[in-house]
Amino acid sequence: MTDATPPPAHHQAAEGGGLGTRLNWLRAAVLGANDGIVSTAGLVVGVAGATGSRDALLTAGLSGLLAGSLSMAVGEYVSVSVQRDSETAALAAEKRELHESPEEELDELTALLAGHGLSPAVAREAAEQLTARDALKAHARVELGIDPDALTNPWHAAWASFLAFTAGALLPLLAIVLPPASARLWVTVVSVLGALTLTGWWAARLADAPTARGTLRTVAGGALAMAVTYGAGSVLGAAGV
Ligand SMILES: [Zn+2]
Repeated sequence: MTDATPPPAHHQAAEGGGLGTRLNWLRAAVLGANDGIVSTAGLVVGVAGATGSRDALLTAGLSGLLAGSLSMAVGEYVSVSVQRDSETAALAAEKRELHESPEEELDELTALLAGHGLSPAVAREAAEQLTARDALKAHARVELGIDPDALTNPWHAAWASFLAFTAGALLPLLAIVLPPASARLWVTVVSVLGALTLTGWWAARLADAPTARGTLRTVAGGALAMAVTYGAGSVLGAAGV
């Protein structure tokens, strides 16, 4: 990079790194739980449309819970691993540049800091101090928008998705297998729509979006999923499949 290169767009986000990262995790957890609720509710309500067998409901619900949570965990593991590999490669490249052309790198850091509104003299001074303390960390944060001490761990991300989906999926699973047969459908529908009201509201709040619209969308999506699978299950059940 040369002095004239503007800071990368994502580097602005580095400022609020800690809080931003926590919010992202929280949002991922809420969305994961939401996924677990909707997909498992659709599954068990569909099976309930076809059969009154509690064993069948338990088998289907548990399989759906495991399949969904494992697939979320694997997907998260893969995507975070890719991100981490690219961050590690960027850090290695930065380390090499710092070793091979320290002067250019100091100029670059100065320019990036000046881009934040520091005067050239102050930016230079700041860049020199940051470089003296920990040059790689300074470039990682200011230039790449990465905190080298806090790279996302793919295993943590995988576990978090697994747990969030499982927590969500347990609700419709328990709601369909615990109550007596005559009440199980309504208990499930009511508790699922209630839970989606919470997750939809929370997800919208975390995203700084209008809460009423976000909540309504989430609840409507869940209601639609259950209506469709129940309809399909009833048709299959009536046809004797
Ligand atoms: Zn650099």
